[in-house]
Amino acid sequence: MRLSRYFLPVLKENPADAQIVSHRLMLRAGMIKQQAAGIYSWLPMGFKVLRKLENIVHEEQVRAGHIPMLMPTLQSADLWRESGRYDDYGEEMLRISDRHGRDMLYGPTNEEMITDIFRSHVSSYKDLPLTLYHIQWKFRDEIRPRFGVMRGREFLMKDGYNFDLTVEDALHAYNRHLVSYLRSYERMGLQAIPMRADGGPIGGDYTHEFLVLAETGESEVFYDSAVTDLTFGDREIDYDDVAQCQSILEEFTSKYARTDETHDEALFNQIPEERRRVARGIEVGQIFYFGTKYSEAMGATVQGPDGKPVPVQMGSHGIGVSRLVGALIEANHDDKGIIWPEGVTPFHVGIVNLKQGDDEADAACDALYKSFTALGLDPLYDDRNERAGGKFATMDLIGLPWRITVGPRGLKNGVVELTCRRSGVSEELPPEQAVAKVAAIYAAL
Ligand code: ATP
Ligand code: MG
Repeated sequence: MRLSRYFLPVLKENPADAQIVSHRLMLRAGMIKQQAAGIYSWLPMGFKVLRKLENIVHEEQVRAGHIPMLMPTLQSADLWRESGRYDDYGEEMLRISDRHGRDMLYGPTNEEMITDIFRSHVSSYKDLPLTLYHIQWKFRDEIRPRFGVMRGREFLMKDGYNFDLTVEDALHAYNRHLVSYLRSYERMGLQAIPMRADGGPIGGDYTHEFLVLAETGESEVFYDSAVTDLTFGDREIDYDDVAQCQSILEEFTSKYARTDETHDEALFNQIPEERRRVARGIEVGQIFYFGTKYSEAMGATVQGPDGKPVPVQMGSHGIGVSRLVGALIEANHDDKGIIWPEGVTPFHVGIVNLKQGDDEADAACDALYKSFTALGLDPLYDDRNERAGGKFATMDLIGLPWRITVGPRGLKNGVVELTCRRSGVSEELPPEQAVAKVAAIYAAL
């Protein structure tokens, strides 16, 4: 993309109403625009990042054997009356009535709807196990929407639902979700720690939340610092291997890590003192096993192997896709702006032309641009007629991991400058070597 043709409405001033750094930087970098409290438009560059996160989530869910679909945002209140949650959910539910006076709502989550789909189409244990998921907008009329997309009212969530015959199968589904979530966050360049949590209105007492440590997080967390040494890495995973998924769950959840809702001071004090941590975290996902809570209330049964009807075992599993954009920035920025991890960056590399209009510099930038696109990479070329300082400030603000600077002086010696946004380190290289180096970094992801 040529910046002169793009829509990147960066702000020079710090927006006064943004309290935390991710919200400030998303507004300044022209990623979002607030349309009402807790409701945002995703401007092109924000949308690009959102889509990248969605893609990672999709790829990892499909890899785990889970099946994508799409349910609507608007739901009929009747389904929620069946589960009893129409009254229980309270003021966070946005209730609407249509022109016929029928009670509708904007879905805050989809347990009821997916259970309805299941009971309409599945009647035999032979169709199990089954895990369906979608990535769809949710609405929760949060009392205090704040921090930009981190606590919005309308937000994008991946929510998946498993249906199993036995408790053991449902726990395996739970473990598959834990493993696939660990992989997803790691691909995004984030460490999200699974912590024992509380069921809340979804219900169920077997649940973990995934937390990204950050000072601005809304949850208070207590953990053994040894959990921060765990990484998923590139280990091979067989999602049908029950023992392997169970052992990964144990590896990642056996050390103490809890939110304040389930914190146990006595257990915490058993951790060696130098490893005890009290910190704050951002919840970027949660997995639940809740057994037959919805299937019994809504009559979702299957015919078991002995011919008798059994209520199906269920769990639900969510990732806060739009919140993750904010969480990523909280975890990756400096005083100049965002620093995108390579796995989620909106553009792979920035090209800065120091002397727009200079034939040689223009031609070198065009050639770089072509080389990157031919390799399937997505460069952002700052071809505007602006001073170098302004171009650098924009690149630093929007946080592309790699920048190539092209100017007449370097070109005389046959080199361009390749700069790493995170380390700030620059090196001079012939253009084709700079391209090769950047391409190799992305090829290794
Ligand atoms: P919270 O405790 O932050 O209100 P929750 O536990 O009610 O969240 P879940 O029902 O577990 O949320 O939803 C799954 C994920 O969706 C959460 O882990 C979080 O990342 C995201 N999420 C929930 N509420 C919001 C919101 N208001 N804005 C943005 N993302 C949200
Ligand atoms: Mg939650």
